[in-house]
Amino acid sequence: MAECVECGKEMGFVDRQNAKGYRGLCRSCSEKGRNVSAGLDDKTIEQVNFEKRELNLKIEAILLTTETAPNLNITERIEIVTAECAFGMNIFKV
Ligand SMILES: [Zn+2]
Repeated sequence: MAECVECGKEMGFVDRQNAKGYRGLCRSCSEKGRNVSAGLDDKTIEQVNFEKRELNLKIEAILLTTETAPNLNITERIEIVTAECAFGMNIFKV
């Protein structure tokens, strides 16, 4: 299995795909490199990562459901999500 050239961490499939474009760096090392080149110091990078984790926790706490789930306690209805699909549009092609 491939390893990151900077931290030596074994990389999974997504990290290996990322490493092809970032000189063999894993995702976390390439992201840290972008932050450093943007002029952020370690404390600012840590603060930004903390805020990202907090935001992700809030996003993951949102439960998407349908009205057919009667036993859920709905505290707030944010928005209704809809979608339409049209399959088989080329079935009448001659
Ligand atoms: Zn790495």
